[in-house]
Amino acid sequence: MAGPPVILAVSADERARSALLEPLRRRYAADYRVLDADGPAEAVSVIESIAGSGDAELALVLADDASPVGAHENVFVAARRHFPDVRRGLVIEWGSWADRATADAVLRLMTQLQIDYYVVRPVHSPDESFHRAVTDFLREWEAAVGKRHRGFTIIGDRAQPRTHVLQSRLTRSGVPTERLDPDAPDAVALLAEAGTAYTGVPVVRTSDGRVLVDPDDAQLARAYGLTTELPEHLVDLAVVGAGPAGLAAAVYAASEGLDTVVLESDAIGGQAGSSSLIRNYLGFSRGVSGSELAQRAYQQAWVFGARFAHTRRVGGMRVVPDGFELEVAPGEVVRARAVVLATGVSYRRLSAPGLVPFVGASVFYGASSVEARAQAGRDVLVVGGGNSAGQAALHLARYARSVSLVVRGPSLADSMSKYLIDQLDAAGVGLTTGARVVDAGASADPARLDHVVLERVGTGERVEMAADAVFITIGARPHTEWVAPEVLRDRWGSVLTGADVLGEGGRRAWRGDPVTGPAPLESSVPGCFAVGDVRRGSVKRVASAVGEGSVVISSVHAHLGALARGSS
Ligand SMILES: Cc1cc2nc3c(=O)[nH]c(=O)nc-3n(C[C@H](O)[C@H](O)[C@H](O)COP(=O)(O)OP(=O)(O)OC[C@H]3O[C@@H](n4cnc5c(N)ncnc54)[C@H](O)[C@@H]3O)c2cc1C
Repeated sequence: MAGPPVILAVSADERARSALLEPLRRRYAADYRVLDADGPAEAVSVIESIAGSGDAELALVLADDASPVGAHENVFVAARRHFPDVRRGLVIEWGSWADRATADAVLRLMTQLQIDYYVVRPVHSPDESFHRAVTDFLREWEAAVGKRHRGFTIIGDRAQPRTHVLQSRLTRSGVPTERLDPDAPDAVALLAEAGTAYTGVPVVRTSDGRVLVDPDDAQLARAYGLTTELPEHLVDLAVVGAGPAGLAAAVYAASEGLDTVVLESDAIGGQAGSSSLIRNYLGFSRGVSGSELAQRAYQQAWVFGARFAHTRRVGGMRVVPDGFELEVAPGEVVRARAVVLATGVSYRRLSAPGLVPFVGASVFYGASSVEARAQAGRDVLVVGGGNSAGQAALHLARYARSVSLVVRGPSLADSMSKYLIDQLDAAGVGLTTGARVVDAGASADPARLDHVVLERVGTGERVEMAADAVFITIGARPHTEWVAPEVLRDRWGSVLTGADVLGEGGRRAWRGDPVTGPAPLESSVPGCFAVGDVRRGSVKRVASAVGEGSVVISSVHAHLGALARGSS
């Protein structure tokens, strides 16, 4: 796109329009083309002409009227149809939020995915609240478009799982990343400039121009400034996992003076990091992307002094006299007086042999928002009936030609929030109930997934369904296979904590003071705690994971205090 991105202000009322236009032009005209339209009908033709010219992207539409133009579209629907990443704000008058009709309109347009949020028309100059809203929209747009940034470039074949892993790691770590096919002209030029050739493995060019051929996880992490080193001394606390629960534990532990190390095998943010928009986290009224929330928490923990060992998977754990040993690699051990297990869960594998060759290239476990843009013009299936499946389907619907959900149960009502079911309906996401994926097949090109085979629950009848990509979000498996045997788990692997340890015949398993019993969130081994999704009975929400990660630190203090007094 040659021209600057466009901001479009829409109002049929001339005074109202100029009240929007003037502050927009004053603040943004150097970087954006600020256009206006006299009502929804003119706005739709402006949008169509920008799309038709192909030389600019529409970044933001602010309109005070969502009336249909022609049969069924309005300005917001037309904007998104042509520009999937555009941000759209309904302009309302100052104070009108007290008016029921306005509140209903905002709620309806948000539920139907026609707007991202509302904006209050500026009432004085400069109106920094208005500009904050506009800047938030533009930041979100920029993050979604991503590739406009000067960031990392990956040259790699999209049929190769490693290409996707590298792109996901970078994007989830907040690094703007563009992927190029090896034969794309920009890729050829970039390889020539670097004096290297594409040999079938991904090549990464960093933002400062270094070229890494097929980097491993640690090399990649170091290339964008993340530490992978392990502490050599005995630390107060090792937190395993840097999802919401582990990050919260790190913030509270480090801010309260504990010598803390966080070990993370993948990317910061855990499952939440793969969510394109978390709408129910307290304080973020317009929602927040999981990776942004995670990056903020990571920086917060870091400035309090928590140290991080990125891309380091803990593979074993021993209970020793002065605490715990966590084995990260052969001969590499972290020693800690206390441990917080915050390793979360991941999705169960589907037993469908035909899917296996495509895993990581066009079949994905989890609902990574990173892959969504690459689905433009493709038919996509999402398998699963939970909220994460619903969110994934919604996000994919921005880009894909078609999105369908496949669930085993008879409906979504028992497993998904009502607001998501309504939004899926509004977004035109298809639904196949009472079916499971049992196989898959390729097209003439064996590297390209073409269809899946569905089996009807009850009848066993099999049908083929076209699919270019499949996202699987079914069931949850706790990451505890490496945990010391003394740590009591249920039969699914979730860690028992607090009173649960003493129930279930676990009194024998509790290795601490028989009178006091374990503290809340403490496992059967004193000093080893579990928080978030990995814990038996957890609520599986970002807020509850953060809550548990925060409150566990008072029990960690109590344990360390008892150790210091020699009474634990
Ligand atoms: C797509 C999606 C959308 C969601 N949307 C919402 C939402 O809108 N609102 C909401 O409230 N909840 C949402 N959830 C649920 C929410 O994200 C989880 O409940 C939350 O992330 C749990 O946090 P956690 O820290 O316990 O575990 P996780 O987020 O699972 O994090 C665990 C971390 O531990 C790491 N780890 C695992 N094993 C090891 C090991 N051996 N060594 C080192 N590190 C390890 C993992 O790599 C991971 O980073 C969503 C989930 C998904 C998948």
